[in-house]
Amino acid sequence: MSANAKTMQLAPLSDEQTLQLQKLTDALDVQALHWLAGYAVGRAHALDASGQEQLALSLPAQPAISVDPQQRLVILYGSQTGNGQALAEQYAEQMQTLGVNVLLSNMQDYNIRKLKQERNLLLIVSTHGDGEPPDDAVDFIEQLDAKKAAKLNQLKYAVLALGDSSYPDFCVTGQRIDARLTELGGQRLAECAQADLDIDAVADPWWAGLQPALQQALSNHQTDDQISNNVTRLRPLPEQSQYTRKNPYQAELLTNQTITANPAEKDIRHVELDLGDSGLQYQPGDALGVWATNPKPIVDALLQTTELAGEQAISMDAEEHTLRDWLSSQREITLLSRPFLQAHAQRAKSSADRRAVEALLGDDQRRQLSRLFDTHQLIDVLQRWPADWTAQELVSELRALTPRMYSIASSQAVTEDEVHTTLARVAYQAHGSRHWGSASNYLADLDAGEAASVPIFIDSNPRFRLPDDSSRDIIMVGPGTGIAPFRAFVQHRAALGGAGRNWLFFGAQHFRSQFLYQLEWQRALKNNQLQRFDLAFSRDQQQKIYVQQRMLEQGKDLYDWLENGAYFYVCGDAKYMAKDVDAALHQIVAKHGGKSDQQAAEYLRNLSREKRILKDVY
Ligand code: NAP
Repeated sequence: MSANAKTMQLAPLSDEQTLQLQKLTDALDVQALHWLAGYAVGRAHALDASGQEQLALSLPAQPAISVDPQQRLVILYGSQTGNGQALAEQYAEQMQTLGVNVLLSNMQDYNIRKLKQERNLLLIVSTHGDGEPPDDAVDFIEQLDAKKAAKLNQLKYAVLALGDSSYPDFCVTGQRIDARLTELGGQRLAECAQADLDIDAVADPWWAGLQPALQQALSNHQTDDQISNNVTRLRPLPEQSQYTRKNPYQAELLTNQTITANPAEKDIRHVELDLGDSGLQYQPGDALGVWATNPKPIVDALLQTTELAGEQAISMDAEEHTLRDWLSSQREITLLSRPFLQAHAQRAKSSADRRAVEALLGDDQRRQLSRLFDTHQLIDVLQRWPADWTAQELVSELRALTPRMYSIASSQAVTEDEVHTTLARVAYQAHGSRHWGSASNYLADLDAGEAASVPIFIDSNPRFRLPDDSSRDIIMVGPGTGIAPFRAFVQHRAALGGAGRNWLFFGAQHFRSQFLYQLEWQRALKNNQLQRFDLAFSRDQQQKIYVQQRMLEQGKDLYDWLENGAYFYVCGDAKYMAKDVDAALHQIVAKHGGKSDQQAAEYLRNLSREKRILKDVY
């Protein structure tokens, strides 16, 4: 470089920055300069339009031009709620920007026989309920676990496990896959990371920490001139509103209406919010994210039980709030977690209590722990096994509050700048006191007459979408508040027109008090916007009747609809209802399709692969 060039200013840098950059680059060889170019791209990608860093890529990022095209990176995701998919897409896009040849795929769509030829794999997979994998990971795991599974001696991989530590089998699906990949000869690029509900807190450092090893793996056999960018199945980015999970919109509450006739028995609300000029857009199937404030009586009880002063200031992660504020709006206090119980045991006032809590954490006590998580809140644990907590420790050991997701019950084609949802208030008596859920009470207690506003964002769910082809029939099964997205579906299909027929199965305990949106369904039937409607009121007769019984009664027609190309949707309870609906569907296909058990299972697997069986269940 000439002396003149050395002093020339490199816009848009300041004089001082120009000198610093020249000093650095003068000291680098050609390879290091190439690396630096890639690093700069990575940094730029991590900055959003406002110049704020979205992802701290503090470690060396991918060189844009030293990757080997033979070294493609496979990114697989198994995701029930879409969180894993969203992360996988984000990582794929970043790697593509850095010049890496990426294959992005759902685990279900990936041909596992190809895995033995792959060299680099990132796998993101969630765990649900009692340690279950997401539906789209089931086949992959079955084949990976098979005795005759191929050796993976040339594979380098990293697994990001997603889960919820208020379940005993936290992240087991990811852990098992990670262990099996090693067993088959794969080599870890990083330890399996286990992310809790606050996913970013674990995923961001994992991703940044993975970069050096990943970079090394991808640049082994360098052939600079053949770089190809190939990310498959990336969805186009929708036009983004500035309002996101991290920057929620304060939406004005328009309506908060009880839609059950006997709220003491079941209090279900229809809530409408004004999106104003937020620019927020949603599709039928999406969820509404709500940042709630925890119930005040629970916060009061926690302060009283721990004998801690609510007004003391506590600093944590560069934030300062009073203890009361931490408990009200920053920490989970209605859900327990295994790490919290571990910390609690260490602080138990008596050794008997300490032993009792520790016993629950033993590997052989999973069922008892699961039961404890189902039946106890934080306050119950503090009262049952008293412990010495300081305010600082308590804030540090409780999980960060995460937003709650509610299925959206409206179509923007109809409601435009409004978003509607349906929720059941969680409130019950246990251990001698009143208990509440967090967000459902926060929302149910709001008064539309008092200019209340709610911090919200849209949680996109591309895995639960209406067919692109509006001439396709749809079958919807949504007992209880699981009806919510189907109100959006029917609204949307009616607004846009199309020849496809709509068939809805709804269930509730009582016809008189819990027939949600009854008038709307009657109107939709009358207007030929709903072609078939089957109801199961479980407690209006001696024997319980559930939606799956209605499905079985209509089995012949249901099978004909499927054969005719219908899509099948389920929303609601994952633990029992969705499994029973699956079983009923299997029975219907076997009986009316004249198939063996195995053939019926294969038929349904194919429908899932074609994305014609879609679930939104929790
Ligand atoms: P619910 O009143 O508890 O249940 C609705 C109806 O389903 C009742 O008649 C109930 O009967 C019946 N039912 C119970 N077990 C069943 C089974 N194994 N198969 C079929 N039906 C069964 O409903 P909810 O209070 O609205 O709650 C619905 C559930 O869906 C909650 O777990 C909620 O979290 C979940 N949910 C999920 C989503 C989502 O994933 N996006 C959206 C909304 C709701 P009995 O009570 O008489 O037994």
